Amino acid sequence: MRVRGGRLGGEDVVAEYVDWVRLDGKTVRLSEVRADPDGHVRLLADARANKSARCLCRQPGLALVTRSTQAGRHFLACWPGGGPAHHPECAFFRIDPQMSGRGRCASAITETETGTSIRFAAPLVSQPGEHGERVDAATYPGLGRRSLGLLGLVHYCWETAGLASWTASTRSRGWRHVTAAMASALEGTTINGQPARSVVYVVPPYRPDRAQANLASFDAFMDSLRPDHPDRIRRGFILGELKAVHEARKTGWRYQLAQQSPGRQVFVSDRLDARLRRSYRNAMSEAAARAGGRRIMLFYVERSPGGFARAVDAAVMLTNTTYIPADSSYEARMADALIAAGRSFVKPLVYDADVTDEVTSAVFPDFILTDETPPTYVEVWGLPGQELYERRKSAKRAHYQRQSARLLEWTVTEPMPVVPPPGRTGMP
Ligand SMILES: [Zn+2]
Repeated sequence: MRVRGGRLGGEDVVAEYVDWVRLDGKTVRLSEVRADPDGHVRLLADARANKSARCLCRQPGLALVTRSTQAGRHFLACWPGGGPAHHPECAFFRIDPQMSGRGRCASAITETETGTSIRFAAPLVSQPGEHGERVDAATYPGLGRRSLGLLGLVHYCWETAGLASWTASTRSRGWRHVTAAMASALEGTTINGQPARSVVYVVPPYRPDRAQANLASFDAFMDSLRPDHPDRIRRGFILGELKAVHEARKTGWRYQLAQQSPGRQVFVSDRLDARLRRSYRNAMSEAAARAGGRRIMLFYVERSPGGFARAVDAAVMLTNTTYIPADSSYEARMADALIAAGRSFVKPLVYDADVTDEVTSAVFPDFILTDETPPTYVEVWGLPGQELYERRKSAKRAHYQRQSARLLEWTVTEPMPVVPPPGRTGMP
C-alpha cells in the first residue's frame, strides 16, 4: 500500500498497483518477466503452448498473447485490440483507438494473434520511378487512412510501446526505457511485409563498453540498404533523438542524434531541412528547447553511394524530458506539471490526421487523466485570436459540456493553474 498525504486511513490510502500476470497457473510480476525473459522461459513456453497467459490487472484476468521471436525468445503481448480493457496503470493499457488518430487509419494496421502488419505509404524496395521524394498524401493517395505516413508511424510506435502514457508509479523514464519498450513493440511487427526490427534502426542507448558494437550495428543497418540490383532502391527508417543540426561541408545539413557517435549522422538536404522547420514549427522552436523538450526524429532513409544515411523525408515529434509527446512547448510544460502532481495520464496522438481537421480536433483532448473515473480531460489553449483556432476551441468546449466531462484548462497567456492531486480535479 502507498500512503498519500502522509495520513493513514480513510480515502487518503490508495492501493498501489501491482503488475501481476498469470503464466501457466503461476502468478508472477510482469516487470520481472520482462526484465528476465530467459529466467521465465519455461513458464512462457508453457503459457504459449496452452494459451494460458492472463493479465491480472482486472478480475478474472485478461487474455494475453505469448509470442516468440526468431531467436526463440518469448515475450508477452496484449491481445489484439484488447488494450482499452486493461487497468490504466497496466503496461498493456492503450486508449480506445477512437480517442486517438489510430481509429482513422485502422485499415493501415492489421493486428492478429501472431503479430501486427503495418502498411507504410511509401515503398521500402522500389524500382526507379516508383518512389517519391516526399511521403505525403499528394504523392501517396490514401496516406493517413489506408496507409501510414512518417508521423503516423512514429505515433504508432510510441503508442504501441506504451510511451504515450504515464503512470504515477513510474519513477523516471530515459532513453534506455524507450528503446526497450520499442524493441518489444516492434517484435512480431512487419512494415510492408518486412520485419520491423530489421527495417527500423532504433538508436541504442550509449554505453562506453557498447560503443564499438553500436557503431557496428548502425553500419550493418546501412549495409542492409545497399541495393542488390542497380535498378533497385532500398529504404529504411532511423528513429532517434535529435541532438544538434550542423551545416554539411558541401551542401545541406547533418542531423546529429543523441546517444549516437557524431561520426554517424543523417544527411538532410536544404529543401527537406526547410520543410521540416516549417511543418514541425512547434517541435523545432526555441521555446520547445527552453521548456526542456526533446525532438524525436523518424527518418525515412536510403544509403548514399558513399555509404552515408541520406534522409528522403522525416517526421519530428516533440516530447517533454520524460518522452511524453507534446504538440507544443506549453504542452510539454503541462506534462511536467501533471507528473509533478503525481497524476497518471495519456497523450492522444493524431497520427497523420491534420490537427486542423475539424472531425479529429473536436474530440482530441491534449491529455486524458486516467486516474479518475470518468477521466478528466486536459486542454492547453494556445494564443487567442486566430479565427479557425477560436472556432475549434469553442467546438471542443461545447463537446465537453455535452458530455458533462471534467476539464482542466490552461490558457497559455495566463499562469498555469495548480494541478490538483488525483480525485480532486474539478473540486473547489
Ligand atoms: Zn493488464
